[in-house]
Amino acid sequence: MNNNKKGTELLPTAVDVLVVGNGPVGATIAALLGRYGVTTLVVDKLHEIVLMPRAIALDNEALRILQLAGLSEDAFEKIVIPEVKMHSPVLGQFGRANTEGCIDGHPKLVTFYQPDLERAMRGQISRLKSVTSLGGFELENLVEESDCVVATVRDQNGHSHSVCAQYVIGADGASSRVRALIGQEFEGQTYAEDWLIVDARNRHESAIDHIEFICDPRRPTPHMPAPGGRERWEFMLQPGESREELESPESIARLIAPWINPQELEIERKAVYRFHARCCNRFSKGRIFLAGDAAHITPPFVGQGLVAGLRDGANLAWKLAWVLRGHAAPAILDTYDEERRPHAQAMIDLAKLMGRLVMPKNRIAAFFIHGLMRMLALTSATRRYFEQLDIKPKNTFRHGLFVQHRRGDKLVRGSLFPQAWVRNMQKQIKLSDDALGDNLTLVGFGVDPLSLLTTDQIVSWEKMGGHFLEIRTRGQRSGGSCDFIEDMNHDILPLAAKGTLVAVRPDRIIMHHAPGFDAGSLLRGCRDLLVSEDATPDSISITINEPPRLRA
Ligand SMILES: Cc1cc2nc3c(=O)[nH]c(=O)nc-3n(C[C@H](O)[C@H](O)[C@H](O)COP(=O)(O)OP(=O)(O)OC[C@H]3O[C@@H](n4cnc5c(N)ncnc54)[C@H](O)[C@@H]3O)c2cc1C
Repeated sequence: MNNNKKGTELLPTAVDVLVVGNGPVGATIAALLGRYGVTTLVVDKLHEIVLMPRAIALDNEALRILQLAGLSEDAFEKIVIPEVKMHSPVLGQFGRANTEGCIDGHPKLVTFYQPDLERAMRGQISRLKSVTSLGGFELENLVEESDCVVATVRDQNGHSHSVCAQYVIGADGASSRVRALIGQEFEGQTYAEDWLIVDARNRHESAIDHIEFICDPRRPTPHMPAPGGRERWEFMLQPGESREELESPESIARLIAPWINPQELEIERKAVYRFHARCCNRFSKGRIFLAGDAAHITPPFVGQGLVAGLRDGANLAWKLAWVLRGHAAPAILDTYDEERRPHAQAMIDLAKLMGRLVMPKNRIAAFFIHGLMRMLALTSATRRYFEQLDIKPKNTFRHGLFVQHRRGDKLVRGSLFPQAWVRNMQKQIKLSDDALGDNLTLVGFGVDPLSLLTTDQIVSWEKMGGHFLEIRTRGQRSGGSCDFIEDMNHDILPLAAKGTLVAVRPDRIIMHHAPGFDAGSLLRGCRDLLVSEDATPDSISITINEPPRLRA
């Protein structure tokens, strides 16, 4: 798909945010910024979507972020994966993860075709007035000045152009130019293993319906189905094997023969990758931010590389928008690194651990580790740890843009507010995030938040970009003056006492919560976080639709 909305479209000279890289992460960030009304330019050195075999699995959190960015459930095809099985050639099945069911309105695990998702996201961007996306522009240089960043981009004819942006996001992938320009080299060791990825198609009838890890130390092989009659195998290269040798049609036919007669399949894509496990020291410098593979890369054993990039996007986009719209002080932007980096690092560590546990490279280690995992599965606590995915690091911040939480609360500040099916005032059944919209929201549990606030407090919340919403028991439709939704399956209301107020950030992280009688202190707590002493919302200039001029 061509990147440019119109072939003749000119490169703007000044924007609020410049996103470098229109891969899945850059495109999602641009879509989120567009929803918040931020004037955004997203450039990519390529016109076309990258077709190499890359991400195949997404979890419920990733799907929720794509929903936040405006993609409907059927925007791209998915296969819901009910379980992940681990097989040893000696011990048989020794481990299992139960991925059946949904969390926060989305399946726990799906497979998909990455180019489909990228096409859908570019389509979404093309509908957003404040976003311009242009292919054929390569970032060369960035110079940060006191009130903007001047980026130099080169077009396909070799001409250089300057763009002045209030903020720049480097979503330019693993070999990020932005990362190099801000001097943020990757930390951590390369996961020095080469893997052959084979994507095949035409197996509509007999493909497996789950993910399997064949944990044979001689040739570990994850294998999974994907939409469009596709299937993927990942084969670890053995010492001494060359990339060319393994990529040959004869070699691929030999490798997939245990599953199917190779003649019955069309090999769509193949590539040998060296996986890396790296994270940079800091995700930002001044007005420049890194997101996605530009900030962190991981072996794909737990399917979290792109997912982590999408989490970056959700976290960063609203913070930039709130600063640019004058709802918050620039200091909140420091919490992007504070909140995102530890979790991204934890996911990399999990991927490395899974690589070692599930696919050890020597037979003796494999026998003991797989035997131990099989034994651990006999007790319910340890079985739960692996089977119910308790091993996956929770997306709960230790520090950041939230008021520290009290232990024992069901609603945990600094973690995701749950999503459930609700009915809105127009009697439409929706997922609750769609009812919350692109807002910072004060949610009242069985109480109208407006009824608990003074006029000054209401105005103060609105100046911080705040809205109000009441969530009620299903069938209770009278009283109150603010918007309300009904909790159709009673999923959200049991999580806090009636009368509780919850401040939910636009990325659905719980910022604060308190009983209704404490509404004043709740608002003060949020205000202290969003607006520092010397930068009240009134004193921050609003730059939306008024991009700075490029200086001569
Ligand atoms: C084999 C494999 C399997 C994987 N499986 C999974 C999985 O199951 N689940 C998962 O979540 N993740 C998975 N991943 C990881 C996932 O594919 C990546 O994390 C994701 O594609 C990164 O997206 P991105 O937008 O950050 O970077 P990219 O997709 O690399 O996009 C970067 C964009 O920036 C552009 N660009 C680069 N430099 C410049 C420049 N100087 N100027 C302008 N534009 C520039 C590029 O052209 C490109 O379009 C897998 C990866 C691999 C290799």
